[in-house]
Amino acid sequence: MAKSIQAIRGMNDLLPEQSPAWQQVESVIRQVAASYGYSEIRMPVLESTALFKRSIGEVTDIVEKEMYTFDDRNGDSLTLRPEGTASCVRAGNQHGLLYNQIQRLWYMGPMFRYERPQKGRYRQFHQFGIEVFGLTEADADAEVILLSARLWKAFGIGDQVELQLNSLGSNEARNRYREALHDYLVQYREQLDEDSQRRLSSNPLRILDSKDPATQQLLADAPRLSDYWDEESRQHFEQLCQRLSEAGVSYTLNERLVRGLDYYNRTVFEWVTTALGAQGTVCAGGRYDGLVEQLGGKATPAVGFAMGIERLVLLLQEQHKLSPRRVVDAYLMPLGQAAELKAPAIAEKLRDALPELRLVVHCGGGAMKKQMKKADKSGAELALIIGDNELAEQQITVKPLRSDAEQQTLSHAELIETLRPLTQA
Ligand code: ATP
Ligand code: MG
Repeated sequence: MAKSIQAIRGMNDLLPEQSPAWQQVESVIRQVAASYGYSEIRMPVLESTALFKRSIGEVTDIVEKEMYTFDDRNGDSLTLRPEGTASCVRAGNQHGLLYNQIQRLWYMGPMFRYERPQKGRYRQFHQFGIEVFGLTEADADAEVILLSARLWKAFGIGDQVELQLNSLGSNEARNRYREALHDYLVQYREQLDEDSQRRLSSNPLRILDSKDPATQQLLADAPRLSDYWDEESRQHFEQLCQRLSEAGVSYTLNERLVRGLDYYNRTVFEWVTTALGAQGTVCAGGRYDGLVEQLGGKATPAVGFAMGIERLVLLLQEQHKLSPRRVVDAYLMPLGQAAELKAPAIAEKLRDALPELRLVVHCGGGAMKKQMKKADKSGAELALIIGDNELAEQQITVKPLRSDAEQQTLSHAELIETLRPLTQA
């Protein structure tokens, strides 16, 4: 036998038994995004490498070690997108969507990062993201966070996730803080973990979310970011906090929250859960007022987030919050050659009458017992049986497969009314 080829490590197939859960999650996401008046945008999965280097930042985990980058046949350096914001801004600039306009956009799709695969961390994963362009004030930040909070509510996991919130201040404030943090930490260079030592001069803010206990301890007495906020950013943050409180969304201030991408300023936030071990961040975002300009557009304020769909699905499964729609409602069993001939046409009539009905027609003939087994295995609620008698009388026998209810023989019109409630379940 030929040696079989396996999928790339960390890139998962989504099998038929899992896809109903994903469809349910995606459909709630679409519905919530629509309920805030957001429009979908779809970007390519491949972009110029320069796009991510310029936006995410050279000294970040993503650009330093996680990107799938290769030269195409032309010798151009391309990268499988590791996130959606950079592509979205690129598309917005390219098509003139951002200049002097307000845009409320969402996207969903695969992202790629070369990481060590583990629960909640994969090399191909999926994000749902939203991006709002053209709005400076904190009401936009509040809207973005409220949209994410509504998703938790829609899924019934509001009590499983905690909102952590911080502000990075203006770029100038952040730069002054960066310097102060550097000057403080440089005294303890030898005690820092290896990654942090390397980042000390290039990106000291990232040291704040180092997981190393010794580094964490040093940070306890480090300068505080909030002492460096500019007055406007302080007010902006206060307005955001007030709006969240008014709307009943509670949050925890986390001064160490800086996010792993360079383009953020002012608001940054994460939704975290304790239910998924180390991969606890389900959604993360913030404001990025400088990025549009940095990528060649006119200066345009922006705020958004990205949500990891695998982590969301894992969380929902752990909390037993998914109840995907049945894949098959009814299984049509033609018994005998005459019925086999008519079955496809009868099934088409049923689909005409009930477009939402999920109806499988048995293929390949066989005796009642064999067909009944297949009907049962399909997960269908009802078996629809057509034998010679039914055919002659233009009737169908309906046998419930998931209850002890009696079977009934019905006219086609009666059958449609019997099936209708199944399509609404
Ligand atoms: P982490 O700290 O877990 O590596 P991150 O800060 O790199 O996360 P972001 O770039 O902010 O993550 O991406 C937003 C969200 O996308 C994350 O909160 C997470 O839910 C999800 N995500 C990121 N990387 C992965 C991955 N490799 N596999 C699955 N989901 C991921
Ligand atoms: Mg990461």
